[in-house]
Parts: sequence; C-alpha cells; structure tokens
Amino acid sequence: MSDRFHFDFLVMGSGIAGLFYALRVAEHGSVGIVTKKLAADSATNWAQGGIAAVMAADDSFEDHARDTLVAGAGLCHPDVVERVVERGPAMIEALTKLGADFDPAAGGSPRSYDLGREGGHSRRRILHHRDATGQEIERVLLARARAHPRIDLFENHCGVDLLTARKAGRAGPDHALGAYVLDGATGQVDRFEARITLLATGGAGKVYLYTSNPDIASGDGMAMAWRAGATLANMEFVQFHPTCLFHPKAKSFLISEAVRGEGGILRTQAGDAFMARYHEMKDLAPRDVVARAIDTELKKSGDEWVLLDITHRDPEYVRQRFPTIHARCLEFGIDPTREPIPVVPAAHYSCGGVRTDLRGESDLANLFAAGEVACTGLHGANRLASNSLLEALVFADAAASEGIARLADLPREAGSVPAWEEGDATESHEAVVITQNWDEIRRFMWNYVGIVRSDKRLARARRRIDLLQEEITEYYWNVKLTPSLIELRNLAAVAQLVIECAQRRKESRGLHYNVDHPERDDARFATDTLVRRP
Ligand SMILES: Cc1cc2nc3c(=O)[nH]c(=O)nc-3n(C[C@H](O)[C@H](O)[C@H](O)COP(=O)(O)OP(=O)(O)OC[C@H]3O[C@@H](n4cnc5c(N)ncnc54)[C@H](O)[C@@H]3O)c2cc1C
Repeated sequence: MSDRFHFDFLVMGSGIAGLFYALRVAEHGSVGIVTKKLAADSATNWAQGGIAAVMAADDSFEDHARDTLVAGAGLCHPDVVERVVERGPAMIEALTKLGADFDPAAGGSPRSYDLGREGGHSRRRILHHRDATGQEIERVLLARARAHPRIDLFENHCGVDLLTARKAGRAGPDHALGAYVLDGATGQVDRFEARITLLATGGAGKVYLYTSNPDIASGDGMAMAWRAGATLANMEFVQFHPTCLFHPKAKSFLISEAVRGEGGILRTQAGDAFMARYHEMKDLAPRDVVARAIDTELKKSGDEWVLLDITHRDPEYVRQRFPTIHARCLEFGIDPTREPIPVVPAAHYSCGGVRTDLRGESDLANLFAAGEVACTGLHGANRLASNSLLEALVFADAAASEGIARLADLPREAGSVPAWEEGDATESHEAVVITQNWDEIRRFMWNYVGIVRSDKRLARARRRIDLLQEEITEYYWNVKLTPSLIELRNLAAVAQLVIECAQRRKESRGLHYNVDHPERDDARFATDTLVRRP
C-alpha cells in the first residue's frame, strides 16, 4: 500500500526558489518539500558569481533593466523586468535577515557591499560571498527550513507526475492537486496532496553532453508540467556558459564569469586574445557572444579548449577573490595565478520553462513555478548573468504572497485522488536501456541542437528523439519505476520540446543561432515560442 500525505503547500525542489517560498508560506500553513536527492543537491549550491541587485549609488533600476533588456534581445517582458529589478534590494535584505552573508566593501559601512561586475552589466552590481555565493544562500535557507516546525522535508523523494483534478475524474476546470512521488527508500509511489503546488525543480542542463549543471538538472518539473497540460515557453533558449574547466576528470566545474569581470582574458592556445574580433565589450561581451566566439575559434583551430588568462593580476588577489576556483584548479594541477586555465563552453541555464504570470502561476490553476523551471518573461532570448538567483527569489516571493492570499478559499480535497497504478510492471533487468538512451540523447542534443544550429541538424535530432520517445514510453510502462527511469523520460520530453521550439524559430536571436536563418526577424518572431501538449 502506498502512503498519502496532505499539506497546504507542496514544494518540489530544495534550491533557492523552493526553500525561500517554503519559509514564507510556512507562516500560514503546512508545507511538504520533496527533493529527489539530498537537500543541498541543487544548482543553487553551485552558484559562484553572485546575485544581481541595484545597491550602488552610481547604479539605477533603469540601468539594470536596460542591461537585462539588451541581453534578452527583444523578448523580455518589460513589466516583469521592471518588477524583478525593483524588488532586488528588498530580496537582498530578506536574505541577509535570514542570515546570508555577502562580502562587504573594503572599509565601507556595514550595509555597503563589495559589488562584482559580470558580462553584459554596465555597472558593478553583483553581491557575492567570495566565489561560493550559492552555497552560502543554500546553507542559510536549508538550516532555516530544517528548523521550521511546519515544514516537512522529504529527501530522496522524486516527483513523478502532477496530480490534477482531471486525473482524479473531477468535472470543471482542471487544477493541480499535488504530485505522485517516488520514495527512494521503499520504491513506492506515494500521493502528496496539496491545495497549492510549487514547482521549483530547477533547470535541464543534463539534456546536453557537456554541462555546468549538477546531476539533478534533468528538467523534471518542465516535463511534469507539460504532461499535465500547462504551457511552456521559449525552450529553444539554452544558455551555454563559455567557460567550464577543461580536464578529463573535472566533471561540470564552472569558471565563473567574474574571472573575466576581474580582468581575465580569453586566448587561443596560440596566445591570441580573440574576443576583440567578436564584440566591442571584448571578454565582457554577453555570454552567447562569448560562447559562439569560442565555438568558432575551436572549430577553426581544431583545438579542444581555449585559455582563460588571469595571470596578470596579483596572485594574492586571485587566491582571495576566487578561493574555490583556485583550489579546484590546483587539484587538477593548474595554478591560475601562474598559468592560464583551459576552458570550454557547456550547457548552463534554461531560459525557457513553465510559463508563469506575474504571480508565478502557470496556466494550470494552483500550479506555481519559480526559479529555473519557470519562464517568467525576465530573460527573454538570453539571461543576463546573475539575474537568475534574483528572479528565483522575486517569483518565489510573489507565488508565496498569492498562495497565502488564496489558501482560505481552497477546499481540502482529500479522498478522491487515485493511487498510483503499478499494473504489471516488473523489475528492470536491462539498465543498459536507460544508459544507452540517456547517452544518445545528450550526445545528439550537443551535436545537433547546441551552440550553433541548422535546419538539417534540427531535423536529424527530431527524427532521433521521436524514435527514442517511442522506445522510452513503451519501456516506462512495463518496468518498475526508478529515479533514473523517471529522469530519462523527462530528459527525452525536454529534448523534444527544445527541438520543437528551435525548429519553429526560423531566425537567430539571443541564444538561438541557426546558420540557415542567421538574421533576427522581428516581423515574424518577436514573440515567445509557446508549447502545450495537444
Ligand atoms: C555552476 C553554476 C553556477 C551558477 N552561478 C550563478 C550565479 O552566480 N548567479 C546566478 O544568478 N545564477 C547562477 N547559476 C544559476 C542558478 O544557480 C540557478 O538558476 C538557480 O540556483 C536555480 O535555482 P532553483 O531553486 O530554481 O533550482 P535548483 O537550485 O537547481 O534546485 C532544484 C531542486 O529541485 C530538486 N528536484 C529536481 N527534480 C525533482 C523531482 N523530480 N522531484 C523532487 N525534487 C526534484 C533538486 O533535487 C533540487 O533540490 C549558476 C548555475 C550553475 C550550475
């Protein structure tokens, strides 16, 4: 017999969005957080550079908004941009009240911060905790959530699918009722029922062979929302971080943009500082420009990596400012104070996701989404560096306010959600099916749907994903569920959505670059790409 749990609020994911939301709503109702591995396994915990907010006297909301709009290449929603940048200082205050510690300005007052600069920002506005900002935020939020009497945290619990009124056979407009969740310890699929559900499951970097993302980033929330009938937007806009450490043993280690912000120069292996040929901001050009420039240089030279050189800065400064990067590079025998760091681009951030309104709600009622799983309209066709942690906070906060306000009007709907049907599913004796399909998807997504795309490559990817989807669907319903199988199914769904959106956008804009349509076409494509399950 599977278990049933009831909460006012169900939160899926324990990164910045899920935890910040949980802490706010827990003052008004019971909260269940399910998270598929250990609670700190999140992209949040890996964020290095920091969080953007207007804090300096020479900065303004207008400047932050303008930088965001420029990066977004015509697809940002101006009302969302305005809302997010204006909420920045309040969100920083909320985090510091909870105990987060951001580096102070040298000799400044207690409330003035050492503000970093990153690509695409016209001002210094990145608050950071040395180069481990995300870890600091995760540490604080998680400690608070664990200590909260109204929050139950379920680790090793993987969301499988959303519970909806339609699935429960109810008449009337569809709405979310919680989720089916696989308990990693028992192998059972339990019902987690809730009046309000928040998806905070993060991004989908694992859909690509090379990624800066942690293993949890398999797009589960996007796939679940899509299967439940919610609209997703802009899945073609995948940001490739230009600089991941290149080393056979360094899995997914990112060299923060802040290294270029503090003077780091990209060079070919022959020593050529090539960025001046690609953009007037040189090494501080927006990420998509830098990633494409590296891709072009690598294709031209046949090299496997380029170099990021910060050796001209004072070694003590480099050690102090980038302790994590410095230590990690040393582990691989590279001393960044004396030699340039070998780097390659890697899939980093999903700008697309579950489409939400200004309250963070999807078009499936009572289903909210915040953080990287969502597409709020902030990033448009390209995310400005360090805007994502801020966006996660602002929308978690907005969703919490809406949820709290709505709670009293929502009935407790216990009793009518069907249990998970296991049917004739048997134990899988062929784990190879999962690893083979997983590898195949990630490889063809990298080769055909990566930094530079073409109509032919997208068509090839489409044929492959259609075939794989058939195989995976058949396999999925015949064997007992495991976390890897859930992730594979979701990865395939997300890959299909990225390809579908990329095929529809017959132009180049922001992060989507197609050699067969190299120009931006505002007449036909100055809109979001929306996908919804037929
Ligand atoms: C290396 C790196 C550096 C970055 N640096 C910065 C930076 O400096 N500044 C910035 O603004 N952004 C940065 N980003 C992006 C930013 O960290 C993320 O966008 C942000 O942390 C996402 O937060 P989130 O809460 O949406 O998701 P996450 O922090 O990724 O959390 C997702 C959670 O959902 C859980 N989950 C997923 N699927 C399921 C499921 N099926 N069931 C249950 N739980 C599930 C996961 O286990 C995890 O707990 C960086 C990202 C990376 C990878």
